[in-house]
Amino acid sequence: MKQTFADKVLAWFDVFGRHDLPWQQSLTPYPVWISEIMLQQTQVQTVIPYFDRFMARFPCVNALAEADLDEVLSLWTGLGYYARARNLHKTARIISEFHQGEFPRSQQDLVKLPGIGRSTAGAISAICFNERVAILDGNVKRVISRVFAIGGWPGQRDTAERLWGQAEAVLPHERINAYTQAMMDLGATVCVGKAPLCEACPVNEGCLALEQDSISDYPGRKPKVSKPTRRTIMLVVKTRAGEIRVAQRPPEGIWGGLYSFPELTPQALEALTPHLPSAPRALDTLKHSFTHFHLMIEPMLVEIDAIEDIPRIDHEAWLSEDNSEAFGLCRPAQKIIQSLLG
Ligand code: SF4
Repeated sequence: MKQTFADKVLAWFDVFGRHDLPWQQSLTPYPVWISEIMLQQTQVQTVIPYFDRFMARFPCVNALAEADLDEVLSLWTGLGYYARARNLHKTARIISEFHQGEFPRSQQDLVKLPGIGRSTAGAISAICFNERVAILDGNVKRVISRVFAIGGWPGQRDTAERLWGQAEAVLPHERINAYTQAMMDLGATVCVGKAPLCEACPVNEGCLALEQDSISDYPGRKPKVSKPTRRTIMLVVKTRAGEIRVAQRPPEGIWGGLYSFPELTPQALEALTPHLPSAPRALDTLKHSFTHFHLMIEPMLVEIDAIEDIPRIDHEAWLSEDNSEAFGLCRPAQKIIQSLLG
């Protein structure tokens, strides 16, 4: 009998797939969910130590639900895209409070939870509950778009619909759990972005992109739009003893709930300068890129003798070498602090 696409992928996975990743050791919803969220936008090798630390501190969904958001964010520091951590925390609380600590078992119900999109919901329900549903993370999009030569940028609705339709059309009727992991693996280790290993690929026979010598056309790229650049000043106050002032940002918006430096406009800095204990000194400018814009950050350092020399501000905290790890800091604040603490 002719082998189907799924048969080939499964046979490959049994021999060459990864079976020893930390989150594969117990295919239950909590670790699968945490790993799926961490793996969005982040490579496996980077995720592993974060995952291990996270699971050691929050071994179950109820432990995560009971934690302070601050602690969750501090364990997330460095992974970026902090909305993911805030949504994890929100979802843990919903599962703990309204679902008796048990995850919903279907993609349809999982997708209603904060931060769980259709693909993540599919991964949890397929891997943990054997629900016959497709996933379409970055890796799977790459494989499907190449094998079936589905052009267009996957961020566009009609392209996404064609990819979902094709991903569903090739689902196996058995071993959906292994197949789901196999597809993620195939995209992560063989059908990689640049220079895919087509010779080692189980679906190379019949891969349209390979046949047409047009692999680099798939998946289609996002139409280029140039991002605007914004500027901001961050006021960095440091005592002679080395304590540095930060302030917690509001829970919503950019870097929500993280610690950073107060931001000022040039006019506000000019108005404030005569009231400061010493003249602000410019540190190196930093560039931070968001999805929709670049931010040029001009840190201004004010050195003071002691904490009491400067009026208090809302939600402030003073960091030193000893306690800086305890705070969830946004990336630019981390860099500025590293440069000051050496
Ligand atoms: S043959 Fe090459 S391009 Fe096609 S799915 Fe396999 S690795 Fe990707």
